[in-house]
Amino acid sequence: MLFDADGRVCYEDELPGDRCVDGWLWERWEGTETGGQLWAAHHPARQRYVMRHPPLCGACAEEAHRDECGMLWLLHATAEVPSAFPCDIITTTPPMCLDDARWALRNCRADCGFIAARTRDVDVIGVRGTVYSPTEPPQADELVLFHESRMNRVVANRMVIRLCDAVLDEATLSRLRADGHRGRALEGASGPPR
Ligand SMILES: [Zn+2]
Repeated sequence: MLFDADGRVCYEDELPGDRCVDGWLWERWEGTETGGQLWAAHHPARQRYVMRHPPLCGACAEEAHRDECGMLWLLHATAEVPSAFPCDIITTTPPMCLDDARWALRNCRADCGFIAARTRDVDVIGVRGTVYSPTEPPQADELVLFHESRMNRVVANRMVIRLCDAVLDEATLSRLRADGHRGRALEGASGPPR
């Protein structure tokens, strides 16, 4: 990584597509796929595409599921997710449609478990990525908010979104789990529902 005359981090061989319309630099993910599927990981260009306003399903890039409580998010039950609802949740995970939520629940091998949450109001607040400095070692996986001057020194890999006043949706989670078990018995784990 280099720094230009304005102190912005840049690629030595930077191409127009390396920056989004706002001018922030994004990671390049290239090469040939190897290994298994990483269910909770998202290609930077695709994650940025689906985290538009309103965001799209992170798997099929069609409309995410909505009901009267808002759009559906399937999230790992990590320490970053608050235990009391409604609450604001900061995440890089896109929302999901029901088919893909069912498929993710069946196939993602997360040890931490899942929650289903819904919100009617989201804000895209910043990015996650590696922050570079002319004098210090790079810092990976930093949360950088849009108003910070560090936006000029980050190479982003995911948009960060705030789910405002999110509510827990245990009924949908139970239904997805039940559908998933039934689906496995009927069809086996043969492929995503497309
Ligand atoms: Zn979908």
